[in-house]
Amino acid sequence: MNKFADIAISLPLDRTFQYKIPDLSQDQIAIGKRVFVPFGPRRVVGYVVGLGDEVDTSRELKEIISVIDKEPLLSDEMLKLTHWIKDNYFCSWGEAIEAAIPGGIKKGKLEIGTRIKDSHIKVEDHKSSVPHDLTEEQSKALKAINESIQKKEHKTYLLHGITASGKTEVYLQAIDEVLKLGRQAIMLVPEISLTPQTVERFVSRFGHHVAVIHSKLTPARRFIEWKKIKDGRASIVVGARSAIFSPMDNLGLIIIDEEHETSYKQDDVPRYHARDVAEERARLNNCPLILGSATPSLESYYKAKHGHYKHIRLTKRIEERLLPKVKIVDMRMELETRKRIAIFSRVLLEAMERTLKNGKQAIIFLNRRGFSTFINCKKCGFVMKCKRCDTSMVYHFDDKRLVCHYCDYKAAPPDICPKCKSAYISYFGLGTEKVESEVSRNFPQAKIARMDSDTTSKAGSHEQILGDFKVGDTSMLVGTQMIAKGLDFPEVTLVGVVSADVSLNIPDFRSSERTFNLLTQVAGRAGRGDHGGEVIVQTYTPEHYAIQTASKHDYDKFYEEEIITRKELLFPPFINLTKLTVRARNDEVAQNAAAELAAAIRQKDPEMMLSGPAPAPISRMRGYYRYNMLLKHKERLYMCKLLRDVQSTFKKPHGVLIAVDVDPVSM
Ligand code: ADP
Ligand code: ZN
Ligand code: ZN
Repeated sequence: MNKFADIAISLPLDRTFQYKIPDLSQDQIAIGKRVFVPFGPRRVVGYVVGLGDEVDTSRELKEIISVIDKEPLLSDEMLKLTHWIKDNYFCSWGEAIEAAIPGGIKKGKLEIGTRIKDSHIKVEDHKSSVPHDLTEEQSKALKAINESIQKKEHKTYLLHGITASGKTEVYLQAIDEVLKLGRQAIMLVPEISLTPQTVERFVSRFGHHVAVIHSKLTPARRFIEWKKIKDGRASIVVGARSAIFSPMDNLGLIIIDEEHETSYKQDDVPRYHARDVAEERARLNNCPLILGSATPSLESYYKAKHGHYKHIRLTKRIEERLLPKVKIVDMRMELETRKRIAIFSRVLLEAMERTLKNGKQAIIFLNRRGFSTFINCKKCGFVMKCKRCDTSMVYHFDDKRLVCHYCDYKAAPPDICPKCKSAYISYFGLGTEKVESEVSRNFPQAKIARMDSDTTSKAGSHEQILGDFKVGDTSMLVGTQMIAKGLDFPEVTLVGVVSADVSLNIPDFRSSERTFNLLTQVAGRAGRGDHGGEVIVQTYTPEHYAIQTASKHDYDKFYEEEIITRKELLFPPFINLTKLTVRARNDEVAQNAAAELAAAIRQKDPEMMLSGPAPAPISRMRGYYRYNMLLKHKERLYMCKLLRDVQSTFKKPHGVLIAVDVDPVSM
């Protein structure tokens, strides 16, 4: 009989805790179940991760209060996977476990035997769809993948196919193979492309077998979907990042669509990357992993080129449709000839007019929301900044307020300058609201809709906007990256990019890659039907290789250029990064703590490549002064181990917070 249990607790402590198992609980206790345990003065939920009678006898152990679950909540596989996350992403095992289970369960409130109503997907609402006859390229891809599925072989495929080349159809048919063998599949999509359109394609093919998980579900809904999977009533999960933890017990395939998307990285503890977790989970299950993208991340393409992934290309659009022609407009020329900054070039205005006249639709893209993004005083130069962040406030016309896009602080727009009391306040910079108003000023007769996080905060608004566009009630759709991905509207013949420079100017070694991806994705929205398509890209840096290569749909050329810089400056894929952010309410305290931490790291390993500390790109956020430093090393695990060593001796000054981000996706 086991007298002691090892318990993982969701606190940032790099260890598990041993508790005595009371006699009464002997029959109930098992690995993978939740328990209530005393922890200091509190009662907390813990997870049983080990049983045994070995014990540290130097102190009296406390007893488990009670066992919560009748059946284990966590499988052996899930324990292994969360342990792997703990090792690789610098968090505790308990924190990793809590990332892997739905919200309601964490507080110990829900019992997994709870009876529940059925899920929100109504199959009757969906048309059923049959598999297409595959093109030659698709068939070849499917054949290779199916072989791995049948052989229960862990292999990672990079399905590298241009937009509308039929990647999703390959996923659907591979899933079909998995179901035939009585196994299950997980399909991850980025949060913002978890649109009704995407879900529809899966439900119409597989009906009741599909569970859907995304962040807008209420905890109760999320639990219902989770339970449906746990009970084996759903064999396919379509979901955002956290769906990688779906409780399937016979996994046959994992798919990550748009694998290059940064939303697969969690930006809170545990800061895991779903792509890497997926690879580990596929390895544990001996099943293939498909990474799909038109613009693979440099990391994945590098692995494919060097034989770690199997590279499969889809080079043609379905029905041999052509990729749209992309025209770059040099806005510096526009400036010279017009003497006034115009939002739209003449080329773009003419194209919009033509599109409307032909009864077709246009997508107008700008990756920044709001009306004016920079407000200052012409007399004294004062800039309206957030009082908590080192960022400029953005004017939002819809609610006539200034908003900070980093902390959501809101303020009334000033009538006079807060500093010199002059009335010369001017508004610069543009966001989607301004673009929308300019489109309607130029084309008063056109029906226009705007889609960004401001217009889609209400439940159902997302569906409403896309629905109206689909049936042609609106003819122009203005929006942020929300409209850049995944949408399949055959009547869209024009895509206008108001400014390609927004993402290019972000201080991050990945800004070129981001820009290339965004331009390629948004261009891919044009010409999906029989009417061809054109894309117009406005920029002040037309010679930049990210813009040049994107305009020619030339991923390989982009990769060739970009990989040189990465190698020279030693960035991924040539090295792994860990970003440390030290913050405090007092600038000096933060700065000193960062310097001390850097010194402590250098002392443990004088060879460690460490840059910084330096002020973060946004040096103050939510009232905290922030300093970054960057570690570079070949081995992710080595960095984590080193930081654990440092952590055990480093005395963190009062009021200082330290965040460790392994494989950061932003600087
Ligand atoms: P991607 O995922 O690469 O963007 P999709 O799978 O969405 O491409 O395919 C684009 C369009 O072509 C979709 O409307 C899809 O239904 C259709 N399609 C895919 N494969 C075929 C095929 N083999 N024959 C005919 N139509 C197809
Ligand atoms: Zn002033
Ligand atoms: Zn702010």
